[in-house]
Amino acid sequence: MPELPEVEVTRRGIEEHLKNKTITKIISRQKTLRWPIPTTLLKKKLVGSKVHKICRRGKYLLLKCENGWLIVHLGMSGTLRIVPEKTRPEKHDHFEIWLNSKFTLKFNDPRRFGAILWESEDPKYHPLIKSIAPEPFCNSFNKNWLFDNINKRNASIKSLIMNSSIVAGVGNIYANESLHKAGIHPFLPGKMLSRDRCHMLVKAIKITLKSAIKHGGSSLQDYVNIDGLPGYFQQKYLVYNRKGMPCKKCNRKISKQIHLQRATYFCEKCQI
Ligand SMILES: [Zn+2]
Repeated sequence: MPELPEVEVTRRGIEEHLKNKTITKIISRQKTLRWPIPTTLLKKKLVGSKVHKICRRGKYLLLKCENGWLIVHLGMSGTLRIVPEKTRPEKHDHFEIWLNSKFTLKFNDPRRFGAILWESEDPKYHPLIKSIAPEPFCNSFNKNWLFDNINKRNASIKSLIMNSSIVAGVGNIYANESLHKAGIHPFLPGKMLSRDRCHMLVKAIKITLKSAIKHGGSSLQDYVNIDGLPGYFQQKYLVYNRKGMPCKKCNRKISKQIHLQRATYFCEKCQI
């Protein structure tokens, strides 16, 4: 599932191809993804309109156009890629934005949990976006914010950092990775974490996400190549998907447990 770093890498990848380009055509081959695609409205609002900028809030991509904002969410399996305009559609290419550069932005989503929506006003007031917690890279996501939000909670620290009302965009992979980096056991109840350990965890989340963006960002050229896979498939993880392999800090075998239906990887020695 695309997490925040993948969405940010996607944003950077498509930005240079979309910014200041004019939309010449919209093709929609699917009535509904997670919600109905407002195709008629999008054709009216977008065709002939220039793309001003591409922002990200949590895992939402926000394309600022002349008349408003296109809101895109990649869902469970969505990808965006830029290809020459005459490229034949692939299976699950549900939505296309054609540009005056002769390139096309294609939205592919086999599981169809993604979203393509329209918002005329500033999307920060949109119902899906207004309640998203601070961005992990913002100064407002700090040890005091984390401590104040978890210090009465019995829920595991892993589930708390994956809760999008506490911090935006930390999914399963980077929750596992950040907790290992901070030396915190994923099942520890939130209320057991001291302010100092919250500080360690906030730092670990920021470093982990930044590093993932950096590594995903190393293969941005893939976004113009129809057979290119996004860079984020090449990530190297500390614990994620490494059951039975040696911990990179202490060499002990990495454990795996299913916690709240999500695969949880950790080192029983380094994470307490
Ligand atoms: Zn270890």
